[in-house]
Amino acid sequence: MIQFRVGNGYDVHALAEGLPMWLGGVRIDAPTGFVAHSDGDVAIHALCDALLGALALGDIGHHFPDTDPQWKGVDSKRLLTRVCALVRSKGWQVGNADITIALQKPKIAAYVPVMRSTLAAVMDIPEDAVSVKATTTEKLGFVGRCEGCQVWATVLVFRE
Ligand code: MG
Repeated sequence: MIQFRVGNGYDVHALAEGLPMWLGGVRIDAPTGFVAHSDGDVAIHALCDALLGALALGDIGHHFPDTDPQWKGVDSKRLLTRVCALVRSKGWQVGNADITIALQKPKIAAYVPVMRSTLAAVMDIPEDAVSVKATTTEKLGFVGRCEGCQVWATVLVFRE
């Protein structure tokens, strides 16, 4: 009998001038980037939390504390690789992921295909199992004021 678990993840990072913007594992051409201890890839962080949440394994801050110099400036794809390895070590496989990114600027629709292929490759699942959706907040709230980005992620994991 196949067993299933679902998890959700949520993350926010502030935007600041002059930082590189990494989102969904991809470098985005933008004058601003995310303030963070790591590379600030808020989409991967939400995805990691969804995977950890599915198996009740805590959260990303527990596994990769921002007080640990080992994670300073780290490529978040490395964190996702480690989280997926942890999931598999517990006997589970990643089924699919659905990610919603709320960002006012820049427009990221053109980056969505490469985000999907990048994240699918890191998680070692098919590209059609990774959804990335981009939205603005119609200029409302902190996202709308271009102060930050928020991301929600949902995943399903399974074992046979
Ligand atoms: Mg984060």
